[in-house]
Amino acid sequence: METQVISTEIKVSPIASMLNNNGRYGEYGGAYIPDVLAKPLENVALEFDKLSKDKNFNSEFIHYLKQFVGRPSPLYYAKRLSEFVGSTIYLKREDLNHTGSHKINNTIGQVLVAKRMGAKEIIAETGAGQHGVATATAAALMGIPCKVFMGAKDAERQALNVRRMKLLGAEVITTQMGTATLKDAVDAALGYYIEHPTSYYLLGSQVGPHPYPRMVGYFQSVIGQEARNQILMHEGRLPQAIFACVGGGSNAIGLFSGFLDDTEVAIYGAEGGGMAQPNNTAATLSFGKPTVFQGTYSYCLVDSEGNPIESHSIAAGLDYPGISPQHAYLKDTKRANYHPVTDNEAVEAFMLLSKLEGITPAIESSHAVALATKLLKNKEMLAIINLSGRGDKDVDRKL
Ligand SMILES: *Cc1c(COP(=O)(O)O)cnc(C)c1O
Repeated sequence: METQVISTEIKVSPIASMLNNNGRYGEYGGAYIPDVLAKPLENVALEFDKLSKDKNFNSEFIHYLKQFVGRPSPLYYAKRLSEFVGSTIYLKREDLNHTGSHKINNTIGQVLVAKRMGAKEIIAETGAGQHGVATATAAALMGIPCKVFMGAKDAERQALNVRRMKLLGAEVITTQMGTATLKDAVDAALGYYIEHPTSYYLLGSQVGPHPYPRMVGYFQSVIGQEARNQILMHEGRLPQAIFACVGGGSNAIGLFSGFLDDTEVAIYGAEGGGMAQPNNTAATLSFGKPTVFQGTYSYCLVDSEGNPIESHSIAAGLDYPGISPQHAYLKDTKRANYHPVTDNEAVEAFMLLSKLEGITPAIESSHAVALATKLLKNKEMLAIINLSGRGDKDVDRKL
């Protein structure tokens, strides 16, 4: 009997395979997307590739970072924290940026890309509303219409941010689908994007398909470039350790990218540990497995059958079951180390830094402070902590 050979290969369009091959960090990354999105994303990839080498584009980006965001952000010597911990600690003050976090670096960069591409409008999705506000801000600055998709439940919980987005001229579109939270907002935004390919989809972290991880990493790399120059100016030497919190991974890659080639600098990522149990955590690299999730191949929190599960963290910005493919690569190659930090540890650090330095960090950033405080105890090391955002938004919670 003759056996028939059946091809089991999945049909991939040439564009999709081009996106897949270019957007890799080791085996991670790529673009796992429906065919209808291949062409629009290829256009974004080609345009970004061109613009990132364009002098005029880069000086326009730097102009807005200086004049609108208020960069460079200070690298602040935290004297009382240093004495308390027993190490020399500097804080990279992304909390002092306009709108209060690092997110604005990326939204300004991407809105500039959108404008160069002649996009008719910006679309974005948001959970806690932080990325929505940063997107609406950059869109208002550039005078381009903006639609922000949100789960109805999130919109109710984040009423203040919804009002801020509307004040900035954005249209907030809520969805009642599913659990009416972030992943339903992603579905709604993707659905709209497929029907309106002349719009520009603005992603808020170093996640999703190529070219987003590369693009977000590029726009946030300003953090690490500044920090490296600043520590050399203050101390005349490189730090021995650097710390950042890791949600999707954008503020962390921003700082880390300035030091990746300095192999003597130890790199630490603080994940949203939640209750530090496999089914109650957002610590993707600590508890997850490599799988395809939301357009990219990276680590993800999964159940016993390998399906993505919900994450849990006290910090909305860290509460995501996926992670940047570049951080997956840095973990596997051991260039960076990732540790879960529990909700309670983060709250303690939130209060500690407020009392010792007069700086209230975002509850997300507090995870980095907590990890640094623990690992640097009496080590007399020189270190930098990335303070990704300010904590005004977190003062109201029951502590
Ligand atoms: C959104 C957010 C984060 C997490 O996002 P990353 O992409 O991992 O940086 C961290 N800190 C603050 C203040 C945030 O708003």
